Amino acid sequence: MLDMLNKIVANPKRFKNYIAGELRDAQDGSVIERESPAHGAVVSIYPQSSTSDVEAAIEAARQSFDAGEWAFRYGGERATLLSTVAQMIRENVEELALIETLETSKPLTVSSGEILFAASLWDYAAGAARTLHGDSHNNLGPQMMAMILREPIGVVGIIAPWNFPLLILSERLPFALAAGCSVVVKPSEFTSGTSLKLGEYLKAAGLPAGVCNILAGYGDPVGQAILDSDKVDMVAFTGSTGVGRRAIAASAGNIKKLSLELGGKSPSVVFADCDMNAAVDGVLKAANVNMGECCIAGSRLLVEESIADAFNQRLAERLKDLKVGDPFDPASRIGAIINQRQFDQIKSYVAVGIHEGASLVCGGDLTGYEGLFFPPTILADVRPEMRIAQEEIFGPVLTVMTFKDRDEAIKLANSTDYGLAAYIWTNDISNALFCSRHIQAGRVWINSALDGFPELPLGGFKRSGNGRETGRYGIEEYTELKTVHMHMGLQSERWVTDV
Ligand code: NAD
Repeated sequence: MLDMLNKIVANPKRFKNYIAGELRDAQDGSVIERESPAHGAVVSIYPQSSTSDVEAAIEAARQSFDAGEWAFRYGGERATLLSTVAQMIRENVEELALIETLETSKPLTVSSGEILFAASLWDYAAGAARTLHGDSHNNLGPQMMAMILREPIGVVGIIAPWNFPLLILSERLPFALAAGCSVVVKPSEFTSGTSLKLGEYLKAAGLPAGVCNILAGYGDPVGQAILDSDKVDMVAFTGSTGVGRRAIAASAGNIKKLSLELGGKSPSVVFADCDMNAAVDGVLKAANVNMGECCIAGSRLLVEESIADAFNQRLAERLKDLKVGDPFDPASRIGAIINQRQFDQIKSYVAVGIHEGASLVCGGDLTGYEGLFFPPTILADVRPEMRIAQEEIFGPVLTVMTFKDRDEAIKLANSTDYGLAAYIWTNDISNALFCSRHIQAGRVWINSALDGFPELPLGGFKRSGNGRETGRYGIEEYTELKTVHMHMGLQSERWVTDV
């Protein structure tokens, strides 16, 4: 292990942008060096793209879309190409997982699982490329018919975050390509490696030049240029609510469509009649997967008052078994936090919570933890108006509130500005279904946590965003509808005069 790390550190991986069908460095030769959060050494070197790089990428996408080669291509051919990429992802799972673990610090087994899931998203999108179709109306009278065509929306900008690099991109990119769009992708400056590898695969698979462009760089100027460009017809943005608001402001320029996947503060709602072991495990998983740096993290536990003490105790006991440490150690379930800024944010939220009157059930204390490793933390006696109950912490911190009955549980569940996900733990199916209808969230899990399928849509209510990705809705998101009115035979009436 140490040998492997030493080799990587001595020779960090270098990546290139994929623009206009070519693998390129940044025009001015600048680079971004990415340090592994767990090891503190440079592991990846990406191009640091500038305005001229992003303009070239947008122009290439625009020209390719307007030329229509990909947009008008038979869906079956688009499907073949997307399936080829799925296969390449699978064949390279070890390399891709290694890159993601080095750049994000998620445990290696988790990275491998995510890469394989990403491949299945490309497969699903390949199927969707074949089945995408429009509609027709033949009940408009004897001489009228209409067709509803589904057309690709145009040039799509995809701006992605750092927490699930290839996975989040694969929830969007293959769907946009399946619909016939041309695309400009900007991955996070912290985790661009696997996204840039995709450029290599798309080139090798024979994607026409300019249809997909992937370039690394900072939010400003690269992401901002995509948001601002009049040549971009839609932006799929995944990230913080703050940048989401910038996207909304920038979209006013050419009225571009936005699909926004933003923050969350999702509740795990635990009723007294649940299976206690399953619920404890599920609550811990929902709160701590990916070091809690997960948009759908179950970061608020709402537990029925009668079992709260016993439940909290079980959570704390189980947390003792959760190993925090080197993501290459197969025993580790929790790696390091993505960067110093995020680490400081988590630390300060724990302090704010205690200052606001929350009590520490476990974690919080950094003694014995080095670098960017942060222990899973549980804060109880939380009130809904506290900042730690309202704001996204994006770290392994679970806040606990109690409820007396279902009405109060639903009220608490809905008491934030967000609405991305919810987890319900009960053995009463009517109760579970009632809650799933009344909790405002784009996704609800009943007696399970975080399992996902390419077939199912994802997205948020309220300030968690709008639009849906993946599944049938995911490909439709990247299309425009065009209505074609058709009259059969000569019209009997003239609007001006008979001629
Ligand atoms: P972020 O908003 O800081 O960055 C996201 C992306 O936007 C990055 O690629 C970044 O470079 C880019 N960006 C930054 N400034 C920009 C600008 N001015 N113009 C255009 N692009 C810009 O978010 P992050 O720190 O990468 O990710 C964490 C946040 O993302 C959390 O709030 C989390 O909830 C959210 N997130 C949501 C989902 C979801 O599906 N809902 C998924 C993952 C992350």
